[in-house]
Amino acid sequence: MAKPLLRSLVPGELGPLVTELGGEAYRARQLAGWLHEHDALAWDELRNIPRPLRDALAGRYDLQGLAPLERQVSTDGTRKFLFSLRDGQTVESVIIPMENHATFCLSTQVGCAMACRFCATARGGLVRNLEAGEILEQITHLRRDLAADPVPGHGERQFNAVFMGMGEPLDNWAALPAALHTMLAEDGLAMSKRRVQVSTSGPGDGLRRLLALAPGVGLTLSLGGTTDEERRKLMPVPGRTPLAEVIDLGARYARQSGRRTTIAWVLIAGQTDQAEQARRLAKLAGSGPFKVNLIPLNALDDDAQEPPTPSTVLAFQDILTRAGIDNTIRLSGGRDIAAACGQLRRRRLTG
Ligand code: SAH
Repeated sequence: MAKPLLRSLVPGELGPLVTELGGEAYRARQLAGWLHEHDALAWDELRNIPRPLRDALAGRYDLQGLAPLERQVSTDGTRKFLFSLRDGQTVESVIIPMENHATFCLSTQVGCAMACRFCATARGGLVRNLEAGEILEQITHLRRDLAADPVPGHGERQFNAVFMGMGEPLDNWAALPAALHTMLAEDGLAMSKRRVQVSTSGPGDGLRRLLALAPGVGLTLSLGGTTDEERRKLMPVPGRTPLAEVIDLGARYARQSGRRTTIAWVLIAGQTDQAEQARRLAKLAGSGPFKVNLIPLNALDDDAQEPPTPSTVLAFQDILTRAGIDNTIRLSGGRDIAAACGQLRRRRLTG
């Protein structure tokens, strides 16, 4: 059995731990610095922590839970990583270089139980949840990668983090709150709430838990349908929550966080690209504090689903724009390296 990861502890838990192991109280701050500022992955890196305390910590915890297995760089600069976990499972993370900052795309589960028809991660079902430390350590590796190989022009700018990798974040309630807490905590990663976006397929129980937690980060809601029937067809598990309820929860969350909720709409030829769907989507989005991201499908290689033609995408967008809905077309980066939606892991699994 692997030990727990030290990074799974929130910064506030380090103090009692250090004291229990016989260290001075101020060592907790140094430890948090090594974990979340200096991106340490080996006990030897913790130079100012006395050897006996290091050994005591190492007796109970692991410092590294992810080993880089693959790194691919797309022609558009997107960097895709495949990590192996201590139990041999794999997860993906992505660095997406934006104009003046990097966006980290993080995974929360190995596989996913939501069964969305257009998503590669869904294909194998849920394998397991990631621990908080496994979620946070993706950031550690991505930051180390950027430090070793900076994106030209980005300077020291903070990164953004989006939970748009593998898994359904709101279906991993065992780890998401701690991961978010450490990301935002002053003695953790000290990220601004504005730089964090939770993306969800919108299971109702998960959305209600997020509302109760009130983390203040941004929310993206993948809708998949403009009626309950449409939504259930493409997103069978989250589709069990009535659309009206999902929209209401998304609007309530936006009012709570003070930021509009983004509705993510994946455009699939013949299925989610119809003019009447655009009109219904405009109505839903116009009913509250929402904006819309249109995402032409990133086609999976084993599937009949295809993205619409560019002119159909633009016609769909035009209906939203004319209805006064703030919207953006999001083209997936890194298509040449299978950077979207669990495709790298899947290619390895299917050989
Ligand atoms: N489970 C979460 C996070 C992972 S999916 C969620 O559903 O949001 C992240 C985003 O990728 C979602 O907006 C989802 O709709 C989108 N997505 C999934 N598969 C896709 C594909 N094949 N092409 C384009 N977007 C996809």
